[in-house]
Amino acid sequence: MKNKVLITGGAGYIGSHTCIALHEADYDIVVYDNLSNSSREAINRISTLIGQNIEFVEGDIRDTELLRKIFASHEFFGVIHFAGLKAVGESVAKPLLYYNNNVSGTINLLEVMTEYNVKNLVFSSSATVYGDPESLPIDESSKRSCTNPYGQSKLMVEHILEDLAISDTGWNMIALRYFNPVGAHTSGKIGEDPKDIPNNLMPYISQVAIGKLDKLNIFGNDYPTVDGTGVRDFIHVTDLAQGHVAALNYLDKQINLNESRTIQKNLVGFLPINLGTGKGTSVLELISAFSDVSGKTIPYQFTSRRSGDISSCYASADKAKSLLEWQAKLSITDMCKDTWHWQSMNPNGYE
Ligand code: NAD
Ligand code: UDP
Repeated sequence: MKNKVLITGGAGYIGSHTCIALHEADYDIVVYDNLSNSSREAINRISTLIGQNIEFVEGDIRDTELLRKIFASHEFFGVIHFAGLKAVGESVAKPLLYYNNNVSGTINLLEVMTEYNVKNLVFSSSATVYGDPESLPIDESSKRSCTNPYGQSKLMVEHILEDLAISDTGWNMIALRYFNPVGAHTSGKIGEDPKDIPNNLMPYISQVAIGKLDKLNIFGNDYPTVDGTGVRDFIHVTDLAQGHVAALNYLDKQINLNESRTIQKNLVGFLPINLGTGKGTSVLELISAFSDVSGKTIPYQFTSRRSGDISSCYASADKAKSLLEWQAKLSITDMCKDTWHWQSMNPNGYE
């Protein structure tokens, strides 16, 4: 029998790409999303791409009764939990909203999962939990610290999952710490669709390239990096989506292994894993790669550093390789090409 998985936040940027990867890997999926930062059109497009209607429930992870109804009417193997708010600046202005949505919402989901004895979880964490790293590349044992409510909400959920794993060895939880997801599906039908002016670099660059924005402000050119601009570990969203399939496959394998033993013991508990490429790319390097694939000049100016930004951040991707047998395959050129394809086919996103 196929494993059925609940995808909270599955209409969003990373969730929509993961739905396709899961379908291709023969998982059954049910998407649960309140559409607060996504649109029904994303659901339609996922359905078109996979050639069948996906099961979609419009709902909030804080709605206990609705969640109960969904868990009562399906037999889930586990949950991939993407649902959450993600804008750092907004989280500073509205901390209660972020803690309520991301932390209380997750607690609510975990409570309902407990009620229905569904204890396999893949959680969307972030490299932001490492704060300003002491050394590079960043591995999973690095110190964690956060400076804004968004990051705190991710860190709090990680702590909650750790405590849960200690309290009950029935839980199997992987926290995937994403580095910088960019790019879009090769079809150009799904991609990142920021509601306002983008905060992140790649969507900002692509909106400059298409002419929606005049020029890019580069936040700082005096960092101790290859060219003075910030360095990040950009990872193609398709690779990231495959990382979720690998995480679910890993949980499935560990659970089967465990069940075949006479003495049952907890094998996964709480497992944090980085999803990155292991390579750093500077802001100027990304602009240059984007110009090459799009044939567009990206006008930019240097401005002061953005408060809270760090100089460099890239992953050690060894743990994902050894445990999940997963590694990123796509290049910076692929990331820029697919972003540009999505942007040019959908100048106004899903509208
Ligand atoms: P996104 O905003 O595109 O997707 C999140 C989805 O969750 C949206 O469709 C939104 O409508 C839904 N949602 C939000 N609150 C909800 C609630 N209370 N109930 C039900 N649905 C709700 O974001 P994304 O980029 O796809 O990110 C997915 C997850 O990965 C988020 O948890 C985010 O914090 C995390 N993450 C993202 C990045 C990134 O750069 N994109 C990096 C690290 C971690
Ligand atoms: N950045 C920039 N201009 C922008 C947006 C981002 O110069 O309009 C820089 C930012 O300072 C950082 C890098 O691009 O060095 C990546 O920023 P992003 O917000 O995409 O990711 P994060 O900082 O969260 O890793």
